[in-house]
Amino acid sequence: MNTEEPDVTEVNSVAASESWPASEPRPGSGSWSGSASWPGSQSWSEPEPESWSGPVALIGARLIDGTGAAACPATDLLIEGGRIIRLGPTGSVGIPPHARLVPCDGLSVLPGFIDSHTHVERDIPAVLHGFLQDGVTSIGNTGSGPQLIEELHRAGRQPGAANVFVAGPAITAPGGYPVIRGDGSAARPVHTADEARAAVDELAARGVDFIKVTQESFDFNYRSPGRLPVLPPALIQAAARRAHEHGLPVRSHVHHVDQLDAALAAAVDSIEHLLFPLPPETGYVELQRAGRLRLDALPDFARWIDRMVAAGVRLVPTLGSELTSIRIGLPELPDATLTEIEQLLVEVVRRFTAAGGRIALGSDWVGLPGIPAGRPRQELHRLLAAGLTPLQVIEAATQGAAAVCGRAGRLGVLAPGLPADLLLVDGDPSADLAALDALRVVLKDGRVVAGRLPVAPATALPS
Ligand SMILES: [Zn+2]
Repeated sequence: MNTEEPDVTEVNSVAASESWPASEPRPGSGSWSGSASWPGSQSWSEPEPESWSGPVALIGARLIDGTGAAACPATDLLIEGGRIIRLGPTGSVGIPPHARLVPCDGLSVLPGFIDSHTHVERDIPAVLHGFLQDGVTSIGNTGSGPQLIEELHRAGRQPGAANVFVAGPAITAPGGYPVIRGDGSAARPVHTADEARAAVDELAARGVDFIKVTQESFDFNYRSPGRLPVLPPALIQAAARRAHEHGLPVRSHVHHVDQLDAALAAAVDSIEHLLFPLPPETGYVELQRAGRLRLDALPDFARWIDRMVAAGVRLVPTLGSELTSIRIGLPELPDATLTEIEQLLVEVVRRFTAAGGRIALGSDWVGLPGIPAGRPRQELHRLLAAGLTPLQVIEAATQGAAAVCGRAGRLGVLAPGLPADLLLVDGDPSADLAALDALRVVLKDGRVVAGRLPVAPATALPS
């Protein structure tokens, strides 16, 4: 397991102005949706003093810890040295007298979001800054050229940038996916089990955070689907076993059930993209025309779901990306058909979740025009539509996403000793996820990187 951690820095040691170019829109305007006004009243402080380096105590916040547990109504949380020191019911935590007290009545504190599946390759500093400002304190990069591994890690350690956890190139069959994407450098073809193990060793030595394998036979030609070569099961197993020996999770790109047996036999940790329950050569359009765009076209689907759940495999559905890809591939497709496909994909997630399966948030963000870096709002809404509760959505976006990025138990939850990557929002997102749009403050490694910490109103201060 890669033990490299982001730099641990002092609490609030960066002035808000330093990490927030004046030319960029602030939360509450521009890319931030929702109607919450940005703090400007007397109850909110001026930018964080650069000199502040002592402990900070959040007092009386509603705690949503990222594990899926119910919110705790009034919690104190002590931060120092970039980490959470202690947390517990208000009054029980033992706040040092020199701590800066931050009144959090009416606010919820939750872990920073993690978008576990992205392909950030260009404008890296600006993109990571955009994610962070919108409350995404970390991202996973699920496939890039090897030359970007170090660059992404380094960029993610900057105070104004989201952390990045990286796969490097995906292990695949010669000529296999994603060799058809970009310049092909995001593919790492292997011919034999020895080569598969060597590729994993090489990636582990370069410091990757998880291993990506692709099992994609579809060439993404939605009009007339063609087939790509896929690794034989023995090679997937060889790669996965070696990755686990390195302590690295294995994330497999699987669209179709015809690859699921091999993925489960290799004990992969997550299935990326949608588990589309139909054979790859079957076009959506033909199925829709024939009235067969239904899950009951595949009687064994429930059995596969049960096996995934029993194996504890996380599903990273990337629903929005699948729909975007279909829309681009078939621009003439009527909206009604696209809606029908969307409902089918959401239904897959619904059945998986209803069977007890767990999700990790991933948007498959690639920087398409009109899709800014930030919280993947549509993806979050589709998870709600699939029947996840707001707490389950938050768990998928925090603990779940951390796990598939190789940070299980080390990020994505609020617990003593873990990095203080957290969000303060107005209201209660565990009751209504829309409260996330009232994002007030983002902290990364204990630093305020967007917004301002509240201060007690003047009238409440001791005279
Ligand atoms: Zn992807």
